[in-house]
Parts: sequence; structure tokens; C-alpha cells
Amino acid sequence: MEADVKTVKSKSLIRRYFEINLLYKILAGLILGAVFGAIFQNATGAIEILKPFGDIFIRLLKMIIVPIVTASLIVGCSSIAPSDLGRVGAKVLLFYLATSFFAILIGLGVGIFLEPGAGLGITGAASAQAKAANAPSMSQILVNLFPTNPIEAMAKGEILQIITFSLFFGVALSFVKDSKDERLSKLGHLIYDVFDGINHIMFKVVGWIMQYAPIGVFALIFIVFSQQGVKAFGPLLGVTISTYIGFIAHVALIFTLACLAIKISPLKFLNKVKSPMITAFVTRSSGGTLPISMKTADEDMGVPKQIYGFALPVGATVNMNGTIIYLGICAIFIANAVGVQLDMGAKLTIILTAVLAAVGTAGVPGAGAIMLLMVLESVGLKVESGSAVAAAYALILGIDAILDMGRTSLNVGGDMLGAVFVAKNENSLDMSKWE
Ligand code: ASP
Repeated sequence: MEADVKTVKSKSLIRRYFEINLLYKILAGLILGAVFGAIFQNATGAIEILKPFGDIFIRLLKMIIVPIVTASLIVGCSSIAPSDLGRVGAKVLLFYLATSFFAILIGLGVGIFLEPGAGLGITGAASAQAKAANAPSMSQILVNLFPTNPIEAMAKGEILQIITFSLFFGVALSFVKDSKDERLSKLGHLIYDVFDGINHIMFKVVGWIMQYAPIGVFALIFIVFSQQGVKAFGPLLGVTISTYIGFIAHVALIFTLACLAIKISPLKFLNKVKSPMITAFVTRSSGGTLPISMKTADEDMGVPKQIYGFALPVGATVNMNGTIIYLGICAIFIANAVGVQLDMGAKLTIILTAVLAAVGTAGVPGAGAIMLLMVLESVGLKVESGSAVAAAYALILGIDAILDMGRTSLNVGGDMLGAVFVAKNENSLDMSKWE
């Protein structure tokens, strides 16, 4: 009898948990994690206990990336008629290129105006060395887009290569579906249905994973704040604030202008995009957030799957507005910190390399920090061990998690904006979702 009462009680607790709005639960995990993490500095015992909870959340999200990216890109490409595929694809890529360009202008503008790191006067110190990390060259980035073996690319989670293969597969499927030969066309539709089915199954799994998100989020945020809280609010406050001003300026200017251009309310867009943006903020992974972005685009924004199925996976890998702003501001911070003046040529070089570096940045935590090396080297700021540049770079690495949160969030917001923009421009946005 007593056991029965207990079961009823625990059942209603679980039910109550499921009844609370998911976003509130995630926000509660975020705020509580930050507060407790800031209070309990370097709490190694607690970190050890909480780490698996955070790791499991990241692993669950990673678990579904390969199937969801492959299936949705294939379904996305093949549900566009061959004649339309080029147009939608070109529009998406053009939109990403344009917003990337504005992002670096904002990054440089904020950096030049606020001068983070000025007067820091860092000189070479052997104690502050940068991590040895090799940024790939431009031609390497290009060549690496093409897998030698798609199965290997999937096994290794090489997202850019998976995207390339899925694009080939999807476009070919679109032609086979459209074939005049009835047997071929039938086969094409069959394969399409299989991938469409996989897509929907993965969405179901996403829904379940998200119920675990508040716990994973609490653990992840606690660890960041417990390990970095005090350090992050020290001498690097300036660069952190500058970077976040850049992120906010991008939302205020570019998001607003793009929304107004397609006649949807910027506030409504922000309201709808907040769930993927918060997920990106805490997971620090555009790739990991993809399942949530796709679900939001589909269910809350009314973007047709042939557009978001292409725009979001491609965006999660090549369109990184936040990373670009971060690269611009941090390059200026490091130049200022070591007392190097950047001339016009150097600033132009930063523009070009930051945009390209962002394309090559994987949508995983901390990837942008590796690409920062590439931008620094391009303007002659060599990160050699023991040098002043290495010391300044090491400072940035120390707070990278906090900068990564904001930039990943903006990266994902920019992808969602691209999907909505092109859908509206194509007259295929379900406007009943925006009333
Ligand atoms: N974490 C970022 C992302 O996943 C990439 C970066 O480190 O800039 O979008």
C-alpha cells in the first residue's frame, strides 16, 4: 500500500517535470549552473561528479548528428526539383556570404572603436605559451571538403565531407526521382521515403534528448563557471564585453534588416529562434544544435524542409557570423595587447582570412580558437612559444569557453535567419506560423 502511494507520488513528479515548458527548464539549468559554479570555484569534487552528466548530453546530441545531417540533406536536396535546386542553393550561399561580410565589418568596427587589450603591454613570457595547434591552409580546407570514402567520413564525423557526399547523393536522387523511366523514378521515390522516414525518427529522438537537456545544461555551465568564473572576469573583461557587443550589434543590425526586408517582425523571429540559440549557447556546438534548429525551422517557423534541409546543415558548417566577429575582435585584442599597429592592408587581410577561416571552422566547441591562429599568422602575428603574441593568445584561450558560447549562439541564429529569409524570398514560408 505504502509502495503504491510512493509510485503515484513519483509518477506525478515525473509527469510534472514533463509538463513544465522545456525552455524554462533549460533556462533554470543555465542560471542555477552559473550561480553555483561561480560560488563554488574550482570545486574539483563537484566537477568530477557533474562531468558525466554534461558529457552524456553532448554525446546524445553528437549521436544523432551524422544520421540527421545525412538524411536531411539528402531529403532536402532531392525534394527540390532539379531545375529549382540551383536557385535555392545559390540564394542560401549568397545570403551567408553577405551576412559573413557584414559580420567581419562589425567585428573590426567594434574592435577598432573599443580597442580591447590596448595598454596591456604584454611582452614575451615563457610562462604563458600558446597551445601548439596547426591551422589548416586554404588549399587544405578546399581539398578536405571531398571525402575519399564517405563511410569513413561518417565514422569520423567529418561534417564538411558528409555534407559534400550528401549533396552529391541528394542531387543525383532528385534527378532519379524525376526520371522519365518509370522504374527508376519509382526507385528514387522509394529511397526518398526511406531517408524521409529516418529524418522523422531522428526528430522523435531529439524530443527525448531535450527532456534531458536541463540536467546536461546545469552540469556543463557549472563546470565552465567553476573553472573559469573568476579568471574570466579579470583582465579579459574588456575583450569579452567587446565581443558580446559585436554579437549584439550583429543581431540588432543584420537580423533586424534581414527580417524587415522579408516583412517579418524581428521580435517574432528572435522569439522563435531563442530555443536553438540557447541550446547553441550551452553546447557551444553548431553541429550539435542542428537537430534543434531543424525541429524549430520545421515546426515553429514554417520553413519547408527542402530549404531548411539544405540551409541549416550547410550553415552549421560554413556560416559562422559569431566566429567571424570573434576572430576580428580577438585579432585586434592580441595586436593591441602586444603593441602592434595594424595597417589598412592588415585589416583587409583580417577580413578575408576571417571569412574563409570561419568556413573552415568545424561546428564544434573551441574550433574557432584554432582558426584564430590562422588569422593571426596571416597578419604576421606569429604564435611562437615564449613570444608576446603567444602569451596574448593564451589569455584568449583561457576564456575561450565564454566567448564560444556567444559566438556559437550567433552562428546558429544566422543559419536560421538564412533559412527563413530564403524561404520567404521563395514564397514558401508558412505564414500561418508568423501570425
Ligand atoms: N563552437 C563554434 C560552433 O560550433 C565554432 C567556433 O568555435 O567558433 O559554431
